[in-house]
Amino acid sequence: MTGSSNAHPPLRPFVAGNWKMNGLNASLSEVAALIEGIDRRTGADVMLCPPVSLLAAIAAMARGTPLLVGGQDCHTAIAGAHTGDISAEMLRDAGASAIIVGHSERRADHGESNAIVMAKAAAAHRAGLIAIICVGETAEQRRLGTALEIVGDQLAHSIPAAATAANTVLAYEPVWAIGTGLTPTVQDVADVHLFMRKSIESRFGAQGTAMRLLYGGSVKPSNAAELMATAQVNGALVGGASLKAADFLGIIAAYAPRT
Ligand code: PEP
Repeated sequence: MTGSSNAHPPLRPFVAGNWKMNGLNASLSEVAALIEGIDRRTGADVMLCPPVSLLAAIAAMARGTPLLVGGQDCHTAIAGAHTGDISAEMLRDAGASAIIVGHSERRADHGESNAIVMAKAAAAHRAGLIAIICVGETAEQRRLGTALEIVGDQLAHSIPAAATAANTVLAYEPVWAIGTGLTPTVQDVADVHLFMRKSIESRFGAQGTAMRLLYGGSVKPSNAAELMATAQVNGALVGGASLKAADFLGIIAAYAPRT
């Protein structure tokens, strides 16, 4: 399970928790416990993507700590008549340093196409934020043997041309593994991540070599070490298990502290 880029130094891991539409002010105690538990010498970038209602409060708690804060979605415009939406600039203003775009729940629930996802990623870049761009096949697509084709198509059409390793992180999230407790085999994860690496290297060259590739889908403390040790996996996007500080810290612990 060796990748195409093993000659390069390892990429700094990135572990992001996606709270989705979960969390009230009462949940801030979990954030306090998370901040308390993160090893200051951690070898990973650690981020929480809470609902917008909690973002500024969590950003204030995280200031001066290793915890980073991100948004879960954004509009493509800077501002304007878009009731209920939020712009990348507003998220940055509230303390975000990244935005998840193209999560499969947005693609499915809101009909977001690759073109929309690309425009949202470009909006994140415009605001100076990292775009965490999600891709992944459905159970049916995997059954039909088209997983790599689907992921390749999403990569080709969801990543803006101006993407760099500094402003873009990619997350492979098989739709059937999200919130189900199911995970692909380590070999399947390695196969897709190697495919992704080759695909972005052929388009972005050295920037593609340095872009971090996250795995997401039922990551738990019990499977994190094995998944995170897989070739071309540079971190995790975590849903359910990021809601409890103890579980999220268990996943973060898959990365040894920096010495
Ligand atoms: C997600 O929604 O990004 C996710 C990976 O969810 P879970 O960890 O709950 O499967």
